Amino acid sequence: MSNGRIGHGSSHPGYELAMLIPRAEIQRRVAALARRIHRIYDNQPLVVIGVMSGALFFLSDLLRRLEQPLQVELVTLRSYRGKSTKPSKIQWIHRMQADVAGKHVLLVDDILDSGQTLATVLRTIRRQKPLSCRTCVLLRKERAEKPKVEADWIGFPIADVFVVGYGLDFDGLYRNIPDIAVLQQK
Ligand code: 5GP
Ligand code: MG
Repeated sequence: MSNGRIGHGSSHPGYELAMLIPRAEIQRRVAALARRIHRIYDNQPLVVIGVMSGALFFLSDLLRRLEQPLQVELVTLRSYRGKSTKPSKIQWIHRMQADVAGKHVLLVDDILDSGQTLATVLRTIRRQKPLSCRTCVLLRKERAEKPKVEADWIGFPIADVFVVGYGLDFDGLYRNIPDIAVLQQK
C-alpha cells in the first residue's frame, strides 16, 4: 500500500488507479477535523446532514469522533455523472426529513467541485432558518473556476483530477477502496 499502488485494480479497461491519499492519512485528518468542529460547537446539540452516497465513509468516520449530542440526517442527490467525470445537472433522490429550525446544522460531503451540490442542499436548509449552518468536505478540488459555495472545513485540497475510493465512485464502482485514488486513463 505504501508503494503508491492499491490492492484493487481498475474494473474499467483503459483506466488505472493511482494512490493519492492513503487510509492512515485520511484517518489522521478526520480526527483533526473532528477536534476543530468540536471546538466550535462545544457540547451544543448538532444536526449532521450527510450527502449520500459519496460521503458515506467520511460521514461515519467523522461521526464516531464527534462527542456532542447529535442527530444524523441523510440526503441523496445524483449528479448524473455515470461514466462522466465532469460536473453535470443534479437531481434530488431523497430530500431532508428533519426539521432544523433553530438548530445548529453541519452539512458533510465528500468533495467540493463546482459547488452545485452543496449550494442546492444549503438552499433547502437555510429556508428552515437554522441557528447556524456550516459545511465540511473531505476534499476540495483546486479548479480554475471558483465553486458556487465555499466549505467551512476542508480535509484535503486536491488537484483537478477525478478521484475514487473512501466512498467515492466511478460508474457505481470503487467506493469500497479504503484509500483515495486517482482514476486515470492509461
Ligand atoms: P459539485 O456539485 O461540487 O460539482 O460536485 C460534488 C459532487 O460530485 C460530489 O458530492 C461527488 O459526489 C461528485 N464528485 C465531484 N468530483 C468528484 C470526483 O473527483 N470523484 C467522484 N467520484 N465524485 C466526484
Ligand atoms: Mg456526492
